[in-house]
Amino acid sequence: MNFFDAFKTLQVEEPLKSVFQGVEVVAVSLVKSGNFLRVKISPNQMITTENFRKMENELACQVLNNIMSCRIEYENGYEYAEAGSGAYVAAPEKKEASQPAPQPKAPTKAPSSYAPGGGGVAKRKYAPSKKNEPDPDMLYGKSFDGVATEISDIITDMRDVIIRGQIFENEMTVTKNGFKILKLSVTDRKDSISIKIFIKDGEEELPGKLKKGLVIEARGKVEYDNFEGEILMTRVSGIRVSKEPLSSRMDNAPKKRVELHLHTQYSDMDALTPINDLIDTAIKWGHKSVAITDHGVVQGFTDAFHKLQDMRDTDFKVIYGVEGYLVDDLDDPIVQDPDSEEDIELRRWSAIPDEVPKIPDPAEEERIEKVKKGKYYHVIILAANETGRRNLYRLVSYAHINYFSRRPRIPKSVLNKYREGLILGSACVMGELYDAILSKEPEARIEELVNYYGY
Ligand SMILES: [Zn+2]
Repeated sequence: MNFFDAFKTLQVEEPLKSVFQGVEVVAVSLVKSGNFLRVKISPNQMITTENFRKMENELACQVLNNIMSCRIEYENGYEYAEAGSGAYVAAPEKKEASQPAPQPKAPTKAPSSYAPGGGGVAKRKYAPSKKNEPDPDMLYGKSFDGVATEISDIITDMRDVIIRGQIFENEMTVTKNGFKILKLSVTDRKDSISIKIFIKDGEEELPGKLKKGLVIEARGKVEYDNFEGEILMTRVSGIRVSKEPLSSRMDNAPKKRVELHLHTQYSDMDALTPINDLIDTAIKWGHKSVAITDHGVVQGFTDAFHKLQDMRDTDFKVIYGVEGYLVDDLDDPIVQDPDSEEDIELRRWSAIPDEVPKIPDPAEEERIEKVKKGKYYHVIILAANETGRRNLYRLVSYAHINYFSRRPRIPKSVLNKYREGLILGSACVMGELYDAILSKEPEARIEELVNYYGY
């Protein structure tokens, strides 16, 4: 049957036509009890609910044996969803008569239910039912079986999907029409999703039961929510306490890497990882070593060192490093012998700062100003040995004392001077090498940079 012709005979409103574009429709029937349309489509065809959403109708689509109920919501989708909230369940035909669907209060003109029409296989039953639930782990709705889908594998319009995750947000809102909506956000530590539940009369205790930190399994439908602008689990049929704790992430690579670019909580606005946890995780993952490369600073070294001391007989190694801000000042004709170590030490440690008279050197001042104004690149600097560690401290000190301008900058001339014992990495997209590649610099320049860095 040609779908559009079918629609014409049914005198369905014009906008619906676009819904099934590209979909071969096997049969179309209008369900009498309401403004519903039932469409039977060919197997393995996808309908985007993006389109559905624009219309004020409800479709029940049968795709092979799976009953796929698609609800169309208007912009004020919440009230409308409330009017017909509940799970859609497939049930044998013969039981229909004995299971009348209860009628919830319908706050809008939308019909709250429909009686399955001729040949109907989709049947709506209002879940959750709170009667006769023996499962002590159930917190809400009907008991269910099945395996949870990874949150990261969830796409829009999945029915009867089970998700498993830890609640990290629990928020109640009351709409202006008086509907109570509970939004739970759960994470499986890989990805997160929110669950939306309309709290009915008599279910007021539910939000208190679904506490932050609790690991739950929830079954419902996953769909795009216009109001939230994201994919949510809606029409939840059941929630229960998960029996197992969340499994934490593992590195399953047969040959483990050594992470050489890594930020801890000492990288301001860039990372939150405490070094203790970081090292514990690396060890649990079978890593032999890990580098610490905070942005411009080395405060994490003591934490790491103490952690290694606490572990006593460990052969786990921490590579001490930094992600620095490198300024190429090598083309500067006035680059000479910058910042002698004694200079810095005297300036830092002199009890009376003015005791050491600064001899103004216009060329030197100009050089420093140029570095402060110059373009900086990210660079990874790792200490390969004790000499390298000391040189790293020198570079970090100079960067903060002499060349700080929004960032602690390291002039390349100074880096070259104290390069002994250090391994230089080209860092990231903000690094000098990638910048040269992206700005299509000549091959010779790129080669020069490749040779400058250790990796
Ligand atoms: Zn970077």
